[in-house]
Amino acid sequence: KLPFLSFDEFIRHWAADRPNSPALTEEDRVWTFSDLERRTAQVAGMLQHLGLEKGDRIAWAGKNSDLYFTLFYGAARMGVVMVPVGWRLAPAEWAFIINDTGAKAVFTGRGFDGALDSIREQTPGVGHIIPAETAEQMITSITPAEFEPSGHDDPVLQLYTSGTTGNPKGAVLSNRNLFALRLNDNYGDIAYLQLADDEVILIAMPCAHIGGTGLGVMAIAAGLPGHVLDEFTPDGFFDAVENNGITRLFIVPAALQMLINHPRCKMVDYSRLKYILYGAAPIPLELLRQCLAIFGSEFIQVYGMTETTGTIICLPPEDHDPQGNDRMRAAGKALPGVELKIADDAGNEVPRGTVGELMTRSSNNMLGYWNLPDETRSTMGQDGWIRTGDAAYMDDDGYVFIHDRVKDMIISGGENVYPAQVESAIYGHPDILEVAVIGIPDQKWGEAVKAVCVPKAGHEIDPDSVIAWTRERLAGFKVPKSVDVIGALPRNASGKILRKDLRAPYWAGYDRQVN
Ligand code: ATP
Ligand code: MG
Repeated sequence: KLPFLSFDEFIRHWAADRPNSPALTEEDRVWTFSDLERRTAQVAGMLQHLGLEKGDRIAWAGKNSDLYFTLFYGAARMGVVMVPVGWRLAPAEWAFIINDTGAKAVFTGRGFDGALDSIREQTPGVGHIIPAETAEQMITSITPAEFEPSGHDDPVLQLYTSGTTGNPKGAVLSNRNLFALRLNDNYGDIAYLQLADDEVILIAMPCAHIGGTGLGVMAIAAGLPGHVLDEFTPDGFFDAVENNGITRLFIVPAALQMLINHPRCKMVDYSRLKYILYGAAPIPLELLRQCLAIFGSEFIQVYGMTETTGTIICLPPEDHDPQGNDRMRAAGKALPGVELKIADDAGNEVPRGTVGELMTRSSNNMLGYWNLPDETRSTMGQDGWIRTGDAAYMDDDGYVFIHDRVKDMIISGGENVYPAQVESAIYGHPDILEVAVIGIPDQKWGEAVKAVCVPKAGHEIDPDSVIAWTRERLAGFKVPKSVDVIGALPRNASGKILRKDLRAPYWAGYDRQVN
């Protein structure tokens, strides 16, 4: 294993070790490690020229691109912090994040020229808005800079959480956070950490999410090519798998669902695609079974959060037994170097098998939230343990089973109901494409379980049949009392169901927090 912990160390190492190997590719553009070393030093030169110093922030407003990764790696080498902003956000939301971070320069992606014009006056601290073409010209023409490399514990990336349960929060991540897990000696045969020399990594998820930018970091750590998709579409995905020799990628369950519904899905040759990493949201068991039958690839579930720099738990391929092995319901076990505990409200560990809040401690834990001292204290105030906000239990072998968000738990007649479990049971119903389960106010039960369902094309949903279907599979108190049918579920850019939006109309006028 390489004793490196920063972008500067890795990039200089690979440029010496394999100068002509591809490092970053998109469409027909191929940048080798030697290109990457020169271009990131040119980025440093450009940032110095713009008056930026270590600890300053820059923002990216655009889709994924090779330019984004070049800017990020270059900034990280000299300790300027990159803040990628989700391109699907509205301009007012951009303005909020850009002001919150105090970014001095904002780079816009291809196709986003002028996209910030309408918020120019609301973002007075921004000295420069630099379109992609200008940035590309500046990088190419400037002399590579001399700079003092950022330290292992300096911040280099500020990523916003997905905003599933509330406002997005900026998690500040250091070089060490991004690379430390790969320094362990004992990761042996753990497929998540063990990359072969001939691999090609696909960056398919948005760069504003750890599942996008994090895959770029994985490629840098391993000295392998990262191939960039500007955004996830089934066709872009299938094309990349067919034409770019992709061996490993990460996608979210909502994207897997889109893939298997697509007519091309069963016609693509997946023989080079060794590993499909999936996670970031609970996966319905039925969807996972379908995927295992279609793709010949090995599946690895990953669990993590922005605050833990992504993956801290993984479910290895050997635990994906389509014969219904219970392990397949688990999120997996801790990566080497990661401590986990299931705790009660006071933070004390509960016995194995008991549901509590998952807590974690490792060198992956963020430095803190940006500008949110109270949230930082309540999330990681205790001896460096992060409270994940996820309800989970651990079995005797250390496998973690995620129930759901603590905030999403429904208390009906005094019993705890976890929406993900009910959704997973309803999922196989022949008329249902997608389902979300929420608690709504109820005189008798306190909260009543409601299923909000989306029908498959050409199907109609009979609420009684959904209730009967669930009754065959789950304890009575978990069975929905009512069923609604809608055209599509509200989701955020990470593909997560926004249960808070589904709940809101039912809880209007009630005291209980809708979260
Ligand atoms: P916010 O914190 O702003 O409400 P978020 O928690 O969705 O949004 P992320 O940091 O992107 O933002 O996501 C982390 C969360 O995603 C975890 O706390 C967990 O709830 C969920 N998650 C991640 N991986 C898995 C997984 N494998 N199975 C189930 N849930 C997962
Ligand atoms: Mg969260």
